[in-house]
Amino acid sequence: MTENTVSNNMVASVHYKGTLPENGEVFDSSEGREPLTFLVGHKQMIPGFEEEIMGAKIGETREFTLSSDRAYGDRDNDAVMEIPREQFAQLEQEATLETGMQLVAQMPHGPSPFTITSLTDDTVTADFNHALAGQSLTFSVEIVELRAASEEELAHGHVHGPDGHHH
Ligand code: ZN
Repeated sequence: MTENTVSNNMVASVHYKGTLPENGEVFDSSEGREPLTFLVGHKQMIPGFEEEIMGAKIGETREFTLSSDRAYGDRDNDAVMEIPREQFAQLEQEATLETGMQLVAQMPHGPSPFTITSLTDDTVTADFNHALAGQSLTFSVEIVELRAASEEELAHGHVHGPDGHHH
């Protein structure tokens, strides 16, 4: 019975903890929050995350480590750009730029988050890679709830409210 296990076109709710395998540092966790709910098989999650929980039952916990190609991909050196600091003049009236700061650029294809990796008087080096790109990631995932997706959810490709309808 596919209805009782994680499979494509199911709505899965999970509690999860993500850690870096080299030092155990927690980079994300649903602890103290509502479980994460998503439509399985619709590319809402990083690829390996779904693959590793396929077939799991409610109450089951799985632990796995994903190499970067199954997580956020490899780092792309072309995604690191030097931007003239004068473009930040307006922002700098309100905030102090610092290395490590995360900002969002308004790009033609939509908002793009980046991290400032270095600063000079003239330039800001902006890294548009995902902060976890190039990293192996370990997850512990507990399946909390499972239900079949509604027709409407399948048509939209995302999860609606608990009953499968828009609120
Ligand atoms: Zn919708």
